[in-house]
Order: sequence, then structure tokens, then C-alpha cells
Amino acid sequence: MTEPLDVLVVGAGPTGLALAAQLRSYGVTFRIIDRSLDLAHESRALAIQPRTLEALAGLGFADELVARGNQAVQLRMHLPRRVLSLPLFDIGCDDTPYPFLLFLSQAETEDVLGGQRAERGTELVKLSAEDDGVVCVVRRGDSTEEQVRARYVVGCDGAHSTVRAEAGIAFEGRAYPQTFLLADLEVDGLEAGAAHAYLTAVGMLFFFPLGSPASWRMLAIRPPDAPDGDVDLGQLQEITDRYVGEGLRLRDPVWMTVFRLHNRGAARYRSGRVFLAGDAAHIHSPAGAQGMNTGIQDALNLGWKLAAVCRGNGTEELLDTYEAERAPVGRTVLRFTDRAFTIGTSRNPVIRLARNRLAPLLAPLALRSTRLRGAAFRTLSELAIHYRRSPASVAGPHAPRRGRPRAGDRLPDLPRGLQGYTAIPGWHLLLAGQDVVWPERSLDVVTRGRAGLLTVHWLGSEGPWPGGPVHGLVRPDGYFGYVAGGTDLEELCVYLDRWLPTE
Ligand SMILES: Cc1cc2nc3c(=O)[nH]c(=O)nc-3n(C[C@H](O)[C@H](O)[C@H](O)COP(=O)(O)OP(=O)(O)OC[C@H]3O[C@@H](n4cnc5c(N)ncnc54)[C@H](O)[C@@H]3O)c2cc1C
Repeated sequence: MTEPLDVLVVGAGPTGLALAAQLRSYGVTFRIIDRSLDLAHESRALAIQPRTLEALAGLGFADELVARGNQAVQLRMHLPRRVLSLPLFDIGCDDTPYPFLLFLSQAETEDVLGGQRAERGTELVKLSAEDDGVVCVVRRGDSTEEQVRARYVVGCDGAHSTVRAEAGIAFEGRAYPQTFLLADLEVDGLEAGAAHAYLTAVGMLFFFPLGSPASWRMLAIRPPDAPDGDVDLGQLQEITDRYVGEGLRLRDPVWMTVFRLHNRGAARYRSGRVFLAGDAAHIHSPAGAQGMNTGIQDALNLGWKLAAVCRGNGTEELLDTYEAERAPVGRTVLRFTDRAFTIGTSRNPVIRLARNRLAPLLAPLALRSTRLRGAAFRTLSELAIHYRRSPASVAGPHAPRRGRPRAGDRLPDLPRGLQGYTAIPGWHLLLAGQDVVWPERSLDVVTRGRAGLLTVHWLGSEGPWPGGPVHGLVRPDGYFGYVAGGTDLEELCVYLDRWLPTE
């Protein structure tokens, strides 16, 4: 048995890698293992949402992701008699530095997140929880086994999670009947710089701009009368001709696969010292490009909490907020993707009429409204996620209400650059208001024993509450834990004693 670790991260997909990066930034002792010998080379999830970029900015990844990705993408919806264009960028979200959907292959994303640093060819086969830790058995490619003891284990090991099975957590839901075909390839005749959706009475076909390892990602529902089994280029071409008509020629596939989609969620995200995150906790259709993004944000909700507890600045109660905050987000994603998928694939005549005849008539009107597009984009971009109902979100006396950030909301980047204040790992106290005298003795109490854990920023009239005086406490993941009006910091101290105790 090796020295006990703080955290064992099982699985080095995007969720595990994001978690590892956050644990590393807090100096926690951890290992990240993955059963596969090599980094994934397939494109898989290819859209990164603005909120994910914001969350990864503090760890130093966002600039590199943006540099490698493609952001100026339009969506072209090819309907029976017309083509509608919808920009996926620059749509009136002025409170984020990333007002666009970033297209980048998952292989590239994992490379940026540090996929090379995981211990590969190392598989978790068993775990047993004890009072003060978890004993894990990991097996290497040469069949040797090692016992690893960790205070906490996080299962980021995907849809078929061993951690979930070992922890006895049910994975409830269903599989969709349709089969999907997916390929990374070259397409002659397709307009570059745009994503293309062909919505026809027979089925749906999508092409997304990739860049690497091929120019395009193709995604289609296999028509019911097409042969089962593996897919080849000939079949993909046949389906494309059926959905699009002539004019597109597919060639040079780098990756082709057939898969079924599921809609399933873990019954719990925590069992004692064992946690689940990412696909281990929820899997669903790719509608809205939420899967990988939700997983990364699970990880970044959990990592700082584990770090706080391991370093003695957090309690079990803080760890409980992981499930309280992320399970509702997971359930919403399952519901939303299920609805979108069901509408998109239904053979019910009424839904088909609405989808194929009414939507094409109404969509251009809806798309003309920047406000409507902005509202839809806020939901998909995950900027609208909040934890207002979390026990760790507390509105103090005279807290600002409508139209201003509240406890549980994310810190907006308004004015631009505000999120940069909170890039240093830790908690951040924002004091807002012009010519306000903040009581020094109270500030001493707030910061005492919290050097390196809590940073105070005087915003003056800048910031999300222009009138002031308002004080807001931002958690390490960029969400407000506490917001109150006035300069009395007594209730803030009560909040901090509970959620950021000093030793
Ligand atoms: C074919 C395909 C296409 C997809 N397309 C899209 C898309 O277009 N958009 C989108 O948002 N999402 C898409 N997804 C889903 C997206 O890839 C996932 O949501 C995302 O990868 C989840 O990341 P994760 O880190 O939670 O899990 P994963 O990426 O599945 O990573 C889990 C890791 O755990 C490792 N592992 C498993 N068991 C063990 C064990 N016992 N011990 C050690 N390691 C273990 C695995 O090797 C793997 O590396 C697609 C998925 C597939 C399969």
C-alpha cells in the first residue's frame, strides 16, 4: 500500500482532467488514472460553451482552447425550400468574455487540459470504503495490482463507470431506439465556416466544422430501412444523397462509428467518500452540446470543495453541496436534451407537422430578434446556471434583488475584466460603492486566519452593483456565496465561519 492520497481521480476524459487541474492548483495530493493506454484521438464532443471557457480561464486553459478552436461559426438550417442562417457568436451577451460557441475536437480539448499527465493503462477494479478513506485496487496493463488508499475517490470514468457500480449507485433511464452514424471526414461541395443542419421529412443530418483530425464531423440518424451493423463510406454517401440530394461528396474518413444514445442519470452523486462526475453521473443525446460541458463544470464545482476539506478549510457540509448544486443541473440537462431529441426525431404526425411545416415558418421571425436569440443562447451556453437554492447561497441583509447578481448567481464579467479579479484560486470579497468607508475592524475579522484563502477587492462604483454599498463574496468557482447591502459585515462573518472556517 502506497502513502494515502487526498484524492484518487478515476478517468482522464475532460471531466477527470479538469478536476485534476483544479486539485493541482490547490496543491492537493492526488493521482489521476485511466485504463486506456493513449489519449483519445476521436473528435467526440466538439462544442465548448461560454460558461465552460469562463470556468477554465482561472486554470489558464481558455486562451489556448480559443486559439485552437473555431469561433466564427454560423448555423445553416437547410429546410425543404430554403436555408436559414443563425450566427452562433456575437449575439448580445455582453457579460462574458466568450460570447460564442467554440468548435474544437474533444481530442484537442483533452490535450489542452493536460491529458498527457494522466497515468495510463491503469484501471480501477475495486474499491471499498472505510471510515477514514477508500481502499482502491488498481490494475496495470501487465496485470500487476496495487492498493491505493485515498481520502476521497471521484469517478470520472464515463458512462460505464466502475466507481458507480462499486459504490452501488443506480443509473436510471432508458436507451433511445434510433441508431446514429458518426464520422470525421472530408466533404466536397459544403460551404466552409458554417455548421449545416439538414432537417427533412425522412430524417436529420448534420455537418459540423472540425478542422482536425478532419475538416468535418458528420452526424446522422440511420434510416429505419438501412442495413444494421458497421458503417462504411458508401452507406454514409447514400444517406447523404437521400437527405441532401446530390452535390455533396464524402471522402477520406478518419473515424466512423455507429452508436445508440441513452438518457440516464445517477440516483446519487455522492456515497460517503465516493463522488461521481461527468458521464458517470449523466448521459444524454448531444442535442445542445451539453455533455462534456456539464461534466467539466461538475468537476470544477467539486474540486475546490475537496481541496478545502483536505486542507482543513471546509466541512462535510460543504462537500454535500456538490450533489445539492450539480444534481439539479444534471436533471435539467437530461430533461432538456430528451425533449429536444424527442421533438427532433418523433414520427408522431402532429409533432412532425410542427417540426417540418410550422417551425420553418416561425424560425426566421424568432431569429430576427436578438433578444430571443440571446435568451436561448444564455440557456445553451450554461451562463444561466445558478445555485440560488443551495444551502451555501445566502442572501444577507438588504441584498440587492431584481436585475442584479444574487447569492448563487455567477459573477458576470461586467464591467469587462471583472472575472479577471477572481482568477487567483480562492474566495474573493467584492466591496462595491462610491466613497464608502468599509469598517476596518470588521475587515480584519473577515480576513483573519484566511491569508491565501480570501482576497478583498475594492470596486468603487465599478462592478455589478453600481449604486452600492454592496458586498458580495465570490466562491472559488465564480459563483456568489453571499451578497448583502450596506457595510455591516457581521452576517458575512457568520457565513464565513460556516463555509470557510479557519483552523
Ligand atoms: C461517439 C461519441 C460521440 C459524442 N459526441 C458528442 C458531441 O457531439 N457533443 C457532446 O457534448 N458530447 C458528445 N459525446 C459525449 C462526450 O464525449 C462526453 O460527454 C464526454 O466525453 C464526457 O467526459 P467524461 O470525462 O465524463 O467521460 P469520458 O470522456 O467517457 O472519460 C472517461 C474515462 O474514464 C476511463 N475509464 C473508464 N473506466 C475506467 C476504470 N475502471 N479505471 C480507469 N479509467 C477508466 C476511460 O478510459 C475514459 O478515458 C460523444 C460521445 C461519444 C462516445
